[in-house]
Amino acid sequence: MKIIIATHNKHKLAEMARILEPMGYEVVTDRDLGIELTDVEENGKTFLENARIKAESGCRESGLACIADDSGLCVDALGGEPGVYSARYSGEHGNDAANNEKLLSRLAEVPDEKRTARFVCAICVSFPDGSEITAEGACEGKIGYEYRGNNGFGYDPLFMVGYRSFAEFSAEEKDAVSHRGNALKKLQKLLPSV
Ligand code: IMP
Repeated sequence: MKIIIATHNKHKLAEMARILEPMGYEVVTDRDLGIELTDVEENGKTFLENARIKAESGCRESGLACIADDSGLCVDALGGEPGVYSARYSGEHGNDAANNEKLLSRLAEVPDEKRTARFVCAICVSFPDGSEITAEGACEGKIGYEYRGNNGFGYDPLFMVGYRSFAEFSAEEKDAVSHRGNALKKLQKLLPSV
């Protein structure tokens, strides 16, 4: 069965293909099909709503099963912020440096024991018959005080898991414990092999 992935993020594509292809799915992007999926507005209140918005739109436009994810960082001392606004926390979409600076300044007075946070990832697979399969994963950590490491992206240099930041993890180490890795493992159990 062909399944279209509603992302052009190479890291996400590779990670999802690693799980789906051994299950018998032929993983394609809109570019592979010579079409262009609409970049829908992610205006949901939860990660799952946003993943569903993208998956349903991709399924409708392609006529294929479509997989989409949405993820972000939830910081307890900030009442769950930046949450679904993670990519545009500083106001400008995708400005990782500005987002991280804002996070650090918001937590300037927050003591160590209250700097708990988690990355959350929701995945939705929408099928042409209107059915869907969803999965969510999380990864617990703490927000550090300074940038550490050069790997990864986004909030990774500030997200501490034990004594290391996510930006100090190798890609394989991160996949093994990350929110996206955990959501994909759950999805793998729910999705039928084809
Ligand atoms: P999206 O799921 O790619 O839309 O992620 C939204 C935003 O959440 C990204 O722009 C990052 O700021 C943040 N984010 C999601 N996953 C990660 C991660 O694994 N590491 C660091 N930041 C992440």
